[in-house]
Amino acid sequence: MVNGLTIGVIGIQGAVSEHLTSMRKILEETNNSGEVFIVRNKDDIKKIDALIFPGGESTIISRILFKSGLYSAISKRLKEDNLPIIGTCAGCVILASEMTDNKKDVKLLSAIDMNVKRNAFGRQKDSFEKYIDIKGFSKPYNAVFIRAPSIEKVWGNCEILAEIDNKIVMVKQEKILAVSFHPELTEDLRIHKYFLDIILENIS
Ligand code: GLN
Repeated sequence: MVNGLTIGVIGIQGAVSEHLTSMRKILEETNNSGEVFIVRNKDDIKKIDALIFPGGESTIISRILFKSGLYSAISKRLKEDNLPIIGTCAGCVILASEMTDNKKDVKLLSAIDMNVKRNAFGRQKDSFEKYIDIKGFSKPYNAVFIRAPSIEKVWGNCEILAEIDNKIVMVKQEKILAVSFHPELTEDLRIHKYFLDIILENIS
C-alpha cells in the first residue's frame, strides 16, 4: 500500500475525465491512495510520479505541448528520472520517435523506439472494438479503436505487448507504455493496473 502518489493527466484533449476515473478507481481497488489530477502547466510536471496522455488529435496536442513549455518539462523528466508515462491513441503517437508520414511536422517526444502510423485503421466511421491478447494478461481484453494509430516498427528496448492483424497496438519500453486503443473507455481496468504496477515499482 502506497500513500500520496501524484499522477497527472494531460488535459489538452480526449477522454481526460475517463482516464481520471479509471486511475482513481484502480488506486482505490488496490488500496493505494493518491491524487490524480489534470496537468495545467509545466510546473505540474515537476511534482508528478507518473503521467497519462489521452487521445485526441496528435497534431494539435503536439503544438500545444510545445507552446506551453510542457514538451520540454516532460522531456526533462524523461531524461532525468525515467518518468512513467502511458499514452493512449493520439497519446501513443506523441510518445513515438518516428512517424511514417509527418507532413505536418508533429514534434514527437521520442520516448519509445517506435515508428507510428496515424489513422492506420481508417477514419472515424471505421472505429471498432475487438478482443485482443495482451502479453501477460490471462484473458483477452476488449480494445476500443477510434481512428487508431498502429505501431509500424520497433527497435532498441521496445517490447511488443499486443498485435492485431499484423499491426502492433501496444508496446512497453522500460517505464513507458504506448497503447493505440482506448483503455479508459471500458470498465476493464487491467491496463491502468498494469501502469500502476510500473509506477509502484518505480518508486519502491
Ligand atoms: N488519429 C488521431 C491522431 O493520430 C488519434 C485519434 C484518437 O486519439 N482517438 O491524432
